[in-house]
Amino acid sequence: MEVTVIPCLKDNYAYLLRAPGSPRAVIVDASEAAPVLAALQKLGVALGGILSTHHHVDHVLGNEELVSRYPGIDVFGSAHDRGRIPAQSRMVVDGETISVEGLTFRCLLVPGHTLGAVAYFGHGAVFTGDTLFAGGCGRLFEGTPGMMNDSLNVKLAALPPDTRVYFGHEYTASNLRFAAHVEPGNAAVTAKAARVAALREKGEPTVPSTLAEERATNPFMRCDSAEIIAHVAERLAGNHAPDAVLGAVRAAKDAF
Ligand code: ZN
Ligand code: FE
Repeated sequence: MEVTVIPCLKDNYAYLLRAPGSPRAVIVDASEAAPVLAALQKLGVALGGILSTHHHVDHVLGNEELVSRYPGIDVFGSAHDRGRIPAQSRMVVDGETISVEGLTFRCLLVPGHTLGAVAYFGHGAVFTGDTLFAGGCGRLFEGTPGMMNDSLNVKLAALPPDTRVYFGHEYTASNLRFAAHVEPGNAAVTAKAARVAALREKGEPTVPSTLAEERATNPFMRCDSAEIIAHVAERLAGNHAPDAVLGAVRAAKDAF
């Protein structure tokens, strides 16, 4: 599977996916139509489908225009988001496998940022929308810390460690500043922050990460770190369960 990163809006990423030699591509999170159309044209491919990770407007703004340009294509999204994802034609459920334009993905329901958030896993990659970012996670707009903990540390953490992680926003540098703040002794965070700074200086995206990198550097996937637990201890009232730690780290980041 070829993946092309398409910067959209201020700091969103859409992804163009293509099976080798296929005349049609699939888009993950059509944030806006114009840059997606430009990417399709540059590669000389048509659009064969859209995978939406969640209903937020910065991830689906381009859906209707793209469907009007490529009538009949499917727009996939969570059954939970029915009525909230423009042009949605396919309602996916947790664990469902979908095939589109020669590509196959397992749909993982990963609630937390929103209740209908979906991660699409296939071909050694996972597209996580605003659930898992490099070095961070989405704000808990609809779900609970327990849901986000299950999504990150049970479901996504069960995927192979070398799975490439393609996330919804370029927040990596600021996420890693917070990661270093809550876990200053983590050398993997320091090393990754240096790599990320070099990429951003050149204007390059920090995607993809890998699950192994996230488990080493992302405070929301490190709820068992003694240093992190100590950092948020006053928010925990003695409860060191992973969902409590995740909630405390999320609250600390919201105030950072
Ligand atoms: Zn969102
Ligand atoms: Fe977003």
